[in-house]
Amino acid sequence: MTPDEMDKFAEDIINGASLSDEDLKKLLAIESEEELEKLYRTARKVRDHFFGNRVFLNCFIYFSTYCKNRCAFCYYNCENDIKRYRLTREDIKETCKVLKGAGFHMIDLTMGEDPYYYDKPERFVELVRTVKEELNLPIMISPGVMNNEILLKARENGADFLALYQETYDRERYAKLRVGQSFEGRVNARRFAKENGYCVEDGLLTGIGNDIESTVLSLRGMKANNPDMVRVMTFIPQEGTPLEGAQQSSNLSELKIIAVQRLFFPDRLIPASLDVEGIDGMVHRLNAGANIVTSILPPNSELDGVANYDRGLKERDRDIKSVISRLESLGMEPASQADFEKVLGH
Ligand code: SF4
Repeated sequence: MTPDEMDKFAEDIINGASLSDEDLKKLLAIESEEELEKLYRTARKVRDHFFGNRVFLNCFIYFSTYCKNRCAFCYYNCENDIKRYRLTREDIKETCKVLKGAGFHMIDLTMGEDPYYYDKPERFVELVRTVKEELNLPIMISPGVMNNEILLKARENGADFLALYQETYDRERYAKLRVGQSFEGRVNARRFAKENGYCVEDGLLTGIGNDIESTVLSLRGMKANNPDMVRVMTFIPQEGTPLEGAQQSSNLSELKIIAVQRLFFPDRLIPASLDVEGIDGMVHRLNAGANIVTSILPPNSELDGVANYDRGLKERDRDIKSVISRLESLGMEPASQADFEKVLGH
């Protein structure tokens, strides 16, 4: 496409045009650097129309790394013999103290499907309430598939966003990735949350067993449930897991899918995660059309991420100050809290 044609394409999307499967396939098939740059530029144009140069900042608190599940791609699957932790309520209160006034728009409380909380889910609800009382900020919960009653209670006690990643809408691939877990159960939990006042985030995993056809299927699957945030993340082989020996792919597929997501979900949140490639990786993801930085850790934190490109590194470079200073060097800035409240529909 010529620059004029690209501008027209971006304008059409801004004015409500929707991508067909053929459009999605064509965009996902782009390989040349020159064409990819054009795709990213178009995605930025669409993003800038809806969000300007303003970026949201999400704080990640992985408060329990225990899990009863066996996801083939995940370091924390219950069969992996690793060191795990579970923060106490007091630990979390202490963490909240250093987060006060730090500039986050939302706090993401993540755990594996930890039996400690699944056996007594009121413990989880209490934790949500504690963080709300301490910080009075929007809260994202990423607790796995909790039942509807607990989702309602968590909502009443301060949860605003549910993150629950399908990873793929290709059922065969799903069965290989999320081993032994219900496909429908995940879709239904997200749907129930959305119907009951939550914003929801869905997510895809790329770089392991997905091709263009299955990516289109997954983008359509996501779209059907009207998510407020759409993530894509590159698979990183994790030590001790069934996929430990799988080939790691480059970040190109993730960047391309971010740009396509921006064109397919023009006014939604799209994460630039620090978890795969740190702050340099954040820059690539923002350049591809993302608009919320995720996996920022509390200051001086030793908590885990999910994919953890920096496992074992002393310098982690995942704090909010470093993120903001890099944003400024790109001519971007943190959005206001009022902007974020608008996204939440408050
Ligand atoms: S992805 Fe989540 S549910 Fe699956 S094993 Fe890892 S922590 Fe558990």
